[in-house]
Amino acid sequence: MDTNKFKIQLENELKLVEGEMKDVGRKNPSNPNDWEPVETDMGSDPADNNDVADEMESFGENAAVLNRLEARYNDIKSALDKIKEGTYGKCEIGGEDIPEERLEANPSAKTCIEHSK
Ligand SMILES: [Zn+2]
Repeated sequence: MDTNKFKIQLENELKLVEGEMKDVGRKNPSNPNDWEPVETDMGSDPADNNDVADEMESFGENAAVLNRLEARYNDIKSALDKIKEGTYGKCEIGGEDIPEERLEANPSAKTCIEHSK
């Protein structure tokens, strides 16, 4: 299998996801592998009390978005590690080859279709 095209795809996706993560979070200064959500600055007047509620809401939303992005990020990272180790494209559960069409649709797939259920 030509893993190089998947590698390129995964690296592009990693950059995209990391860019999105920077919109809603920042790296924890004491642990660069850990991201924490940030409040989105709505550009509103801090004197307005309603903004506090708005900011809390954006913080909660950002935390949820960040969680999803982080999971995605880790999946892509682990797929890239597998390419390096030469184990890319194997189902994590059964060890069989993941069909190439599946990898084309989702290069960070960890399992075959059967085991993803
Ligand atoms: Zn499987």
